Amino acid sequence: MLDKNRLKGLSQSIEGIEFELKRSARKTMCIQVKRDGSVIILAPNKAKNEVIEQFIISKKDWLISASEKVKKRIRLKPEIVEGVKVEIMGQTRTVVQLDINSKKDYLFESNLLSLYSVDGKSFENALVDIVMLYIQEKIAVYSKLLAVKPAKVTIKAQKSRWGSCNAKGEITFNWRLVFAPKEVIDYVIVHELGHMVHMNHSRLFWDTVESILPDYKKRREWLKAEGGFIDWSFNN
Ligand SMILES: [Zn+2]
Repeated sequence: MLDKNRLKGLSQSIEGIEFELKRSARKTMCIQVKRDGSVIILAPNKAKNEVIEQFIISKKDWLISASEKVKKRIRLKPEIVEGVKVEIMGQTRTVVQLDINSKKDYLFESNLLSLYSVDGKSFENALVDIVMLYIQEKIAVYSKLLAVKPAKVTIKAQKSRWGSCNAKGEITFNWRLVFAPKEVIDYVIVHELGHMVHMNHSRLFWDTVESILPDYKKRREWLKAEGGFIDWSFNN
C-alpha cells in the first residue's frame, strides 16, 4: 500500500511502471502513453491513492506493452557515419563517402546515398535537395491534373505541419517528408494543390483530392500513425 504522501509529486513508479500523475476536476481515470513512451495517469482530484494504485496495477500488462511499442517506433536520430542505413522516401539507403574527386556534394543512386562529407549537416542538405527535386517533379504532374499553378514552392523545417498553402498560391512543404514513403509525399502534394481549388477542408475539397488519389485515406492514415515518429533534425 502507498502511504498518504505518495502519488503527489511527479514521476513516480509502481511495480516498475514509471508514470507522471496529473490530478484534475475530471471524473474518470485515464492513461496516456506519450510519443516518447512516457506514461501519464490522469485522475480525479478526489480519487484515493489506493484506487489509483489499483487502476495502474490492473493496466500493468497493457501499459508495459504500449510503452514498449511506442519506444520501439521512435526513429532515433541516427549518427550519420559511413555505413549507416536510413529510410529515404520508402527505400533503405546506405550512407557512404563519395569519391574525394567528385564535383558533387552528394549522389543518390541505387541503394546508396553518397555524401562528400559524411556528417549530419551534409546529410540534411542532401535530403532537402532530394525531396525538393521529387516534390517539383510531382507538382508538375499533379498541378496539370488539377489545372492549378502554384505561385511559389518552398521547403522548410516545420515542427508540426507537413505542408501548407496560402491564398496567394504559395505552397510550403516540410523537408522531413523525405522520411515518408513516396505515396505519402504525393498525398501531401495533392492535398496542398487541392487547396488552390478549395481553400478549406469541405466535402468538395476531399472529393477533389479523391479524384486524383482514390486511396488518399490510406496515405493520410500513414501520416497520422507514423508521421509523429518522424522527428529528425541535425540543426538543434
Ligand atoms: Zn489542408
